[in-house]
Amino acid sequence: MMSFICLRYVTVTFQSWEKKKKVCFHCHSPKRVQAVGPVWTQCIEPNSLEEHSLYEESLDKRALRRKLTSSEKFNRRGFSEEKEATQMLMNSEFSSLLLQEARAGNKEIRSGKVTVKLASSYGFCWGVERAVAMALETRKHFPKQKIWITNEIIHNPKVNARLAEMNVQFVPHKNFVRDFSGVSSEDVVILPAFGATLNEMQYLSDLGCQIVDTTCPWVSKVWNSVDKHKRANCTSVIHGKWNHEETIATASFSEKYIIVLNIEQAQYICKYILYGGDKNEFISKFKNAMSSGFDPDRDLEAVGIANQTTMLKNETNAIAKLFEETMLKKFGPQELSKHFIAFNTICDATQERQDAMLDLVEEPLDLVLVVGGFNSSNTSHLQEIAERKGIPSYYIDGPERIGPHNRIVFRSSSSQELLEKENFLKRGPITIGVTSGASTPDKIVQDVLERVFMIHKLYCSS
Ligand code: SF4
Repeated sequence: MMSFICLRYVTVTFQSWEKKKKVCFHCHSPKRVQAVGPVWTQCIEPNSLEEHSLYEESLDKRALRRKLTSSEKFNRRGFSEEKEATQMLMNSEFSSLLLQEARAGNKEIRSGKVTVKLASSYGFCWGVERAVAMALETRKHFPKQKIWITNEIIHNPKVNARLAEMNVQFVPHKNFVRDFSGVSSEDVVILPAFGATLNEMQYLSDLGCQIVDTTCPWVSKVWNSVDKHKRANCTSVIHGKWNHEETIATASFSEKYIIVLNIEQAQYICKYILYGGDKNEFISKFKNAMSSGFDPDRDLEAVGIANQTTMLKNETNAIAKLFEETMLKKFGPQELSKHFIAFNTICDATQERQDAMLDLVEEPLDLVLVVGGFNSSNTSHLQEIAERKGIPSYYIDGPERIGPHNRIVFRSSSSQELLEKENFLKRGPITIGVTSGASTPDKIVQDVLERVFMIHKLYCSS
């Protein structure tokens, strides 16, 4: 019998909806937790994999989610009476007349010798706009209450800073564990656009605070598909980053899952499905990216595909195809439907922005600027498209990355480090492709363009 220590699941305790006891959310055992803070506990005892999986099978996460979201203190629509004032605030804080006009016209902006070609789709997506508007409505609706967000509302530092200025606080966290000790039943807690875990939702519901859930319906659609995987006895293969908030939330709604970052990891798993391999190596490779007690020899008999909504759609499709072909090879066409299921859960906004970027990089461009928060997954994928095309491209999070003089500080899609480039704008006429991530307000893009126009005029116009 294998055993392991449940140290990874240091977390807040919550009231089990079945037993009303404090339990470890991972192994659900009241015996295996010890207090390490006001509401934090740690699971310390070794436990058998079999025991874990038996207990978890008895839980119906879908039913629990429904129960929590139908509570009268769980708001998923915002506050209609605040919508008009909020819309005015959104327009003044985040939109840009310059970009609005370009969007309505030929997607080009000219200033001096600089021509900017905008992607045909860029910037705030519907889900992000909705989440930010709901957060602002919440602030207006509860002017006196303490308001918290379990995480960044979206992946844009300027938007999050603006909310902080409005006295909306972020729940502190460390190593993926949130410390809710400061939150009381009188408070209001906003769940961000990429959702929250089932355990966080349950903890807050048990606490009795007002919850405003801004989770994008596209993200909920992925959660519905992992429910369907479970009902079909399939393991969810989630294409995403195991430490991304959206994927952490999606994983919390699945029973059995494995998270794959890219096609190389998918190939490794598919090879294991077909030919077996070193089980210890497998477990160590995916140690942060699979459900508790995951056994590659047992849990890869039937799979369903899900994704973090902001991954590269071509890669998600390629991963799904690879698993389908693998199951076809292993079980034959008659049995395929018992071993493989997939639903289209790539969100339209991600798809449109990636398609627009693919079109943009086909144009004759001297360079590309990709604007968005550095922790924004969808923005880094846009940058990746420009890099693959071999066009000089700069991923920046705001206008302050440009200057002084003809200089830019930027990131690449793969590196966390900031890079610098002197003389990034060439002399004379220049054509720049511009796009921005789904969490980037147009106002920031406008500020970036104004900085570029000024620098080109000062240093490169002759
Ligand atoms: S990128 Fe897609 S899933 Fe994410 S918030 Fe926008 S619309 Fe929703």
